[in-house]
Amino acid sequence: MRILVTNDDGVNAPGILALAQSLQELGEVMVIAPEGQQSAVGHGITLHKPLRLDEVDLGDGLTAYSCSGTPADCMILGTLGEMPPPDLVVSGINAGANLGEEVLYSGTVSAALEAALHGFPAMAISVAEYDEPMYEAAACFASQAARALLSSPLNADTVLNVNVPSLPPDKIQGVVATRLGRRKYSEVVLRRDDPRGRPYYWFTGSPIEFDAAPGTDIWAVKQGMISLTMVHFDLTSKQKWEGFAQLQSDCGLPGADSPLCDANRG
Ligand code: MN
Repeated sequence: MRILVTNDDGVNAPGILALAQSLQELGEVMVIAPEGQQSAVGHGITLHKPLRLDEVDLGDGLTAYSCSGTPADCMILGTLGEMPPPDLVVSGINAGANLGEEVLYSGTVSAALEAALHGFPAMAISVAEYDEPMYEAAACFASQAARALLSSPLNADTVLNVNVPSLPPDKIQGVVATRLGRRKYSEVVLRRDDPRGRPYYWFTGSPIEFDAAPGTDIWAVKQGMISLTMVHFDLTSKQKWEGFAQLQSDCGLPGADSPLCDANRG
């Protein structure tokens, strides 16, 4: 059993060490993670500069590499590079929840999705506390969830997004399947001047939750439960859009009422 571990908080973050140590009971763990902080870089990959991998010592006999790229880069290198392919990919343990639309920004979740797009079973795991997260419950749960994921695989292109309350293991209230809620960051853009008098900008503010209804990931974590959301990359909306028929009649070549670039010239 080979397990590939990554994160977006950087290879030296405490969460990735807790995760790697927990997963060692299942098999051989290899860590490939960004050399520094890559939170909120989303699914970016590096195409215009060279990528470097440097072996680092995390202790505990773990093979670990620091990568100059993004979390998704780490997954490409770990699954398509020179290393033998993993049986499972786990991304985390992130310091801070990845709830609602945070999955779109999250390097942690994006790394798992990247692995899933290449056909590997994958999950992302986060603790819902940024400042002083308690990793123990999440680390224990990670190896349990890894076993479940291997014995009952998810559909293609789907990952398990796990959010664990920052509580001691004996205070966790249960495990529940959820859907994504809605959690938006307050749109505060700080503007200040740097020492040379030039303005700079910094996004800040706390999340505003506007769908934390029962059944959502946000709700589950607030109840002290571990939230499991199956997330997949198909962003196609199933909405029926009335504008489509008109647009197709105007522009849907061939046989359109007017050729594409003549529509507004009549
Ligand atoms: Mn992070």
